[in-house]
Amino acid sequence: MTQSGNLAGAALLAAVAATPAGAATLTTASFGVTADGKPVTLTTMTSGHGVTVKFMSYGGIITEIITPDRQGRPTNIVLGFPSLRDYETKSAEGGLYFGALIGRYANRIAKGHFSLDGQDYSLDINNTPNALHGGLKGFDKQIWDVKPGATSGRSVSAMLHLTSPDGDQGFPGTLNVDVSYTLSDDNAFSIQYRATTDKDTVLNLTNHAYFNLAGAGSPNGVFQQLLTVNADQYTPTDKTSIPLGHNVPVAGTPFDFRKPTAIGLHLRSDDEQLIWAQGYDHNWVLNKRGDLAAPQFAVRAHDPASGRTLECLTTEPGVQIYTANFLKGIYAGNGGVYRQTDAFTLETQHFPDSPNQPSFPTTELKPGQTFNSTTIFRFGVQK
Ligand code: BGC
Repeated sequence: MTQSGNLAGAALLAAVAATPAGAATLTTASFGVTADGKPVTLTTMTSGHGVTVKFMSYGGIITEIITPDRQGRPTNIVLGFPSLRDYETKSAEGGLYFGALIGRYANRIAKGHFSLDGQDYSLDINNTPNALHGGLKGFDKQIWDVKPGATSGRSVSAMLHLTSPDGDQGFPGTLNVDVSYTLSDDNAFSIQYRATTDKDTVLNLTNHAYFNLAGAGSPNGVFQQLLTVNADQYTPTDKTSIPLGHNVPVAGTPFDFRKPTAIGLHLRSDDEQLIWAQGYDHNWVLNKRGDLAAPQFAVRAHDPASGRTLECLTTEPGVQIYTANFLKGIYAGNGGVYRQTDAFTLETQHFPDSPNQPSFPTTELKPGQTFNSTTIFRFGVQK
């Protein structure tokens, strides 16, 4: 080993020794009041091994995820804003959905229209000509009831509850939704969704965190960050981002991330799918085998510069990977003004527009059934 290698090694050991190791913690404090006077809390969870997750009761929004780099230096790796008012104004105006819980229907429903049991339902057209992410006042803009959940020396959790009344944003059925956020001492952050309804309905829940493993607002965006996506196929769309209804092999296309591939490698390709969406904004069809009720490997992200890694496992059949194409450099957040390709999302989900696409896995939920879905984000470093 060279001398500089030895020094780097010594620095690394010192950093690892300095990494806080202890019990996981959870604290809740006020995060202000909404413009219409409703109190909002901010909950902070720490893993005891260097990872901190902060989220609000407003939208269940994850405002920060702080993880160490390979030298043990902590940085916030999700795009966010410093204040509640920023989320109520900038995130809402810009249709950003930073860090939010998305419901009742993650992604688009074509023309804001679907039929169920022979009845037609119309939704807000909030992403012309389609309905996006549950409507004008989706779950991302609701105040969730937050309570501490089960806590052991090895993990902490918080329980978020929302009752969405029959007809909320045009969707049928009273829906009771419970989400748990759990942070464990192996630096895994799990999101578990459960829901029941009193009428037949459709449902597709996700979280819309924007990740940049080099740190939110870092100067080089995510071009050099590597993704591995466990998907042989994706669902191409029309110009309005509605799936065409069939899966296409990723082989030989810019959507092939079966081996670790830099996000930026094909971003400037003239593939019409990338041009229409102004980057990646597509649903990958996750390869599955065995127990479908168990979270299976979906995506691994790696930032070679900082060493940070993120592994995503899910029970969902798809993942929407979005390269922040519509961030226009007009909103200042934690870490500076955010621009296109400053982050990627891993929105685990059922496929967009499933209520209108009979060949896709169903998103229907009926009385007596329980919707169950789990997604795990595990944070680490590659030395
Ligand atoms: C959608 C994008 C949208 C973004 C933010 C993604 O899930 O697919 O088209 O711009 O969310 O709203």
